[in-house]
Amino acid sequence: MRLDTETLPLLREALERLERGFDDLPDLPDLPGNSDGTDTEAIRRVLLETADRLRDNYPYFHPLYAGQMLKPPHPVARLAYALAMWINPNNHALDGGRASSAMEKEAVAELATLFGWKEHLGHLTGGGTMANFEALWAASRLSPGAIVASETAHYTHTRLSEVLGVEFRAIPADDLGRMDMNALESALAAGGVGTVVATLGTTLSGSVDPLPAILKLKERYGFRLHLDMAYGGYFTLASDLAPETRAAYDRVAEADSLVIDPHKHGLQPYGCGCILYRDPAVGALYRHDSPNTYFTSTELHLGEISLECSRPGASAVALWATHRLLPPRPGGEFAAGLDRGMRAARDLHARAVADDRFLAGFHPELDIVVFAPRAGSASAVSAASRRVFEEAGRRRLHLAVAVVPAAIMRPHWPDLDWDSDQVTCLRSVLMKPEHEDWVDRIWNMITAIVSESESGTESETKSEMPHESA
Ligand SMILES: *Cc1c(COP(=O)(O)O)cnc(C)c1O
Repeated sequence: MRLDTETLPLLREALERLERGFDDLPDLPDLPGNSDGTDTEAIRRVLLETADRLRDNYPYFHPLYAGQMLKPPHPVARLAYALAMWINPNNHALDGGRASSAMEKEAVAELATLFGWKEHLGHLTGGGTMANFEALWAASRLSPGAIVASETAHYTHTRLSEVLGVEFRAIPADDLGRMDMNALESALAAGGVGTVVATLGTTLSGSVDPLPAILKLKERYGFRLHLDMAYGGYFTLASDLAPETRAAYDRVAEADSLVIDPHKHGLQPYGCGCILYRDPAVGALYRHDSPNTYFTSTELHLGEISLECSRPGASAVALWATHRLLPPRPGGEFAAGLDRGMRAARDLHARAVADDRFLAGFHPELDIVVFAPRAGSASAVSAASRRVFEEAGRRRLHLAVAVVPAAIMRPHWPDLDWDSDQVTCLRSVLMKPEHEDWVDRIWNMITAIVSESESGTESETKSEMPHESA
């Protein structure tokens, strides 16, 4: 079995339970699918056609998909989301989604608790981009001035600053892909900075900006601090972070706002990001009629504290249900899944270190590995990375490539002829717990490709390889 269908009967059982909540309403005998069967047949035809179309996808659910940050939601999230679809609640306001708004507040409070915030203001969003947008919007109003973030921060911050009409400055990264503290201090000393965005878990390499040092600079220079943890937020639950990484997560509560994406590492369907503010008074910004109202998280209608109006209640329902099954607590089953992905990443990295056909990048802090086939120059490494990426894809191993600034990799690969200011590397996000058991197989596939291309047999094998072996 490759796709879970075993849990599907539970959906019918839950739907029947849900339906009983509306027993006092008159019956509707002519619903699509309930009448003479013609509707059902038409729906069936379209649905099967839809399934055919969806076969044209990389197998995100499979451990041999080890490329970008993609994986299917947990079955409980998928089922809870589908269950809510029969109601289709809108969490814009209580009228649109009574139960799901309450579930959203509970689920969001659970996320705030993860970072040690008993009091908070927050809500779910369409994703990390919208959540960061709200954070930067609030920041630009509460702390005017430039927004700065590491050059390895998500590109969304540059773009969102543009949308907000606020100046953005990129801070160079160090050789671990983290924001360089000397460069940040220079920028702060130069003046005009309103907000610093620190990334805990960069999209590129899972690097964690040194939060304790940033907080020290905050004391000295007084800026607003936003944490982009869209991808990395849940790793606060990991049991075996490197001491410096742990030190960053341990100080999250001192930031002014943060973003975490349940649809990245929280086992949720897409359309689920989350913005959290430490100070509930930020809610005043969202209120146009009464700017001085003091807000606490319990008094609010969610529609009053969100830039988005209509929002899927189903997202909140799915997240709430996932928390019931897999509470996001240290030592729990969910946390163990994060640990397994991290072990997979460390294992893959160690193999790249030990094999002189490869150039290993810096040690993975979370579950992303950056490495490359060895070659003489940066441009040759880039070409080789692309070749391996493409050939692996033909063999049903799906990696990703990442273009990394030369300044980050040069200290690790000093013997390379640096004929370019960037280098394309292989990048693998090992975010499924099962990856731990598949590293051996994944590595064997990668080394086979590299050996074959070294001995010049790749072109022959290539023509014999079936393109797809579904
Ligand atoms: C994915 C990601 C984003 C963007 O979030 P979306 O949910 O894709 O909109 C922002 N920042 C970081 C660090 C990310 O990994």
